[in-house]
Order: sequence, then structure tokens, then C-alpha cells
Amino acid sequence: MASVPWSQLLSDNLAERKAAGRYRQQRIRDGEQGVNVVINGQPLLSFCSNDYLGLANHPELKKAFVHAAEYSGVGAGAAHLLTGHSVYHQQLEEALAEFMGQERALLFSSGYQANMGIIDGLMQRGDVIFQDKLNHASLLDGGRLSAATQLRYQHVDMAALERRLKQADQTAHKLIVSDGVFSMDGDIAPLAELQTLANEYSAAVMIDDAHGLGVLGDKGRGIVEHDQIELADMPIVMGTFGKAFGTAGAFVVGDNDFIETLIQQARTYVYTTAQPAAIAAATLASLKLVQQESWRREKLQALIKQFRAGAAELGVKLMPSQTAIQPVVVGDDNKAIRIGKILEQQGLLVGVIRPPTVPEGSARLRITLSTNHTEKHVKQLLNALELAYAH
Ligand SMILES: *Cc1c(COP(=O)(O)O)cnc(C)c1O
Repeated sequence: MASVPWSQLLSDNLAERKAAGRYRQQRIRDGEQGVNVVINGQPLLSFCSNDYLGLANHPELKKAFVHAAEYSGVGAGAAHLLTGHSVYHQQLEEALAEFMGQERALLFSSGYQANMGIIDGLMQRGDVIFQDKLNHASLLDGGRLSAATQLRYQHVDMAALERRLKQADQTAHKLIVSDGVFSMDGDIAPLAELQTLANEYSAAVMIDDAHGLGVLGDKGRGIVEHDQIELADMPIVMGTFGKAFGTAGAFVVGDNDFIETLIQQARTYVYTTAQPAAIAAATLASLKLVQQESWRREKLQALIKQFRAGAAELGVKLMPSQTAIQPVVVGDDNKAIRIGKILEQQGLLVGVIRPPTVPEGSARLRITLSTNHTEKHVKQLLNALELAYAH
């Protein structure tokens, strides 16, 4: 068997992780992902998917996917700069640029790759990157990959950000990077304040709106629409398709020179196979539904309200989140696991998130709601929480 010479250390570390309640494990899903899932053979009502608008299994997406697969085949066969960029990819880029009101859009094969590529492609040695401490791992890794200096500031603390901006060499190129909706807390970045500081210190702003796109704003344009940001103050916006869009992949929008620069220099764009054309075709179908079916956002908001009101009544402490991410902070890792297990015994699945994904002492249930949930589902969740907390 292939093993490394220090495998004893690996096995010790794994045992330690297990004892600390931090062991991560795959579970096997059979059939579609959605509100009702079969995990390890057990049917469960799921509150841990990021399919916020319930589009992942939509017939229109499936139809577009199958049709494009018949026409273009399955594998893209090459990177975008060789022969991987299909008519569907091109159409999707154009549709996204229009949707977001920006000159150009560029597709990436995943959100992780997009963030690495955007930050590393744009920032060089001598430049400075400022990141919120709770930013997604892919943003922090993008900063680490680039040769630029990376400074982190306390979560949404604008005074802390300003101190960092003052510290930096004023002639350096500066990029402020933030999640739009924070993935583990569900709160929304103070975009207008970020932009004001950016203007004052001649910095650019990049927003990762993985959890805001589709969900926030009348048309689902995410945080920039929610905050009614003026065109002149538009940040660079990156978004993913694996969440509200119900497909896979990611994009970034910006002006022509910015996008062209990434095409030349973003290593995770240049040196990777394009996503299958059929995925781009399905995403095009999804983008249409995201724009047209605002009832999905309205229903989701109603479920969020119902959940928050019910949880408050139970005395469950919630975080200040207006989004589909509704974390319940438990604190202790093992206690969070225990509550997760009790919920599972009642047929409910929630994310149990522990450090290092979240700060020490803030293990939590990451509850996510979807348009495909019903009032009854939310009531079931509240009842199960009540029971779990009584234990
Ligand atoms: C999920 C996520 C990503 C990564 O996107 P993938 O397409 O899943 O690789 C990046 N940023 C944030 C904030 C995310 O939640």
C-alpha cells in the first residue's frame, strides 16, 4: 500500500482530531440533493444545502443541460484559451455582464479557483491586500498565493480596516477584499462604508457574493443591488453558481482591462480545463429563472422570518442575519455535535461547523433555508431544536 514514511504521525493526528470532535467525514447521498435527501441510506429533511432558490433540480436546468450535452458533448477537452470555450460559455459571459451591469464577465471552473485567480492575477509584489478576518478560505488563499502583502482586519470593523490602510505604503496598489454575505455568519458586509474608505485611500474593492447573488436584491443581483450601489462605486464582484444558481462554477465581472488582465495572468484560469459546456448552458437557464422568478426570493424571505421568529420564541440565540444562512452558535464542539445528532435522530440534517472553519469556541449549527422548504418544514425544524435544547 502506498503510505508516507511519517504515517504514524498522520494516524496520531487523526486520533487527536477525533478525540477533539473535529474529525471530518464524507457521507454518501443517493439521488437528488434538495430539501429531502437520502444520506447514508437514511431519508432526511435537509437544512444544510446552499441551493437557496431550489433550482438545482429544476426541469429547465436539466433540459438545458441535456440538450447542450447532446450538442457539445461532455468534457470541454481543453482550457478556455485553447478549444474549451464553447458558444454556451460565451453566451453566459455576455448574459452575466449584462445582468450585473458591467462591461465584461469571465468564467472560472469553481469559486475557489476564481478567488485564487482574481487576487493572484491582479496583485503583485509590493501591493497590499486587506481582508476581513472571516472571509472565505479561498479569498485568504488567493492572497497567500500572490506575492503581495496581506493584512487582515477584525470582522466588519471599519476602524480596524482604516488603521490597516493607514499602515500601508500609500503608493502601493491596494485591494480590499470581503465576502458580500459571510458564509458562516450570514451577515452582510458594510459595502458602502468599504467603498468610502476605498475611495479615501485609493483602493479597489472586491466582493465575493457567493451567498448574496440570487438571494439579495429585487432581481437577485446580490449585495450591490441590496445596497443600491451607484455604478461609479461598483466593486469588482465575484459570484459562484454552486449556490443559488443551482449549478457549478463561478464568474467575476469588471471592466474590459481588468478582465483582459485576468485572461493573461490568472493562473487558475489559464491552466485549467473549462467547465463542461452543458454546465454553462444549465447556468444560462438558471440565470433566467433567477431574474424572472422573484417569488423565489420572496418565499425564502418569508421562511427566514418564520424561522427567526420561532427560534426567538424558543430562546435560541440567533445571529444578525437577514439571509438564508441562519447559524445557531452552540460554542463547544462536542455539544454542537451532540445537538446535530439529536436533530438527525428526528430526521433533520443541519451543518455542524467547528473550528478551524469558524473561530474557537463558536462551533455552530449552520442552518440554511431554501425556497423549496415549506412552512411545515420550518415548524418541524423548530420543534426538533426545542427538543434538542431540552436535552
Ligand atoms: C462556496 C464559496 C466559494 C467557493 O465556491 P466553489 O464554486 O464552491 O468553489 C467561494 N467563496 C464563498 C464565500 C463561498 O461560500
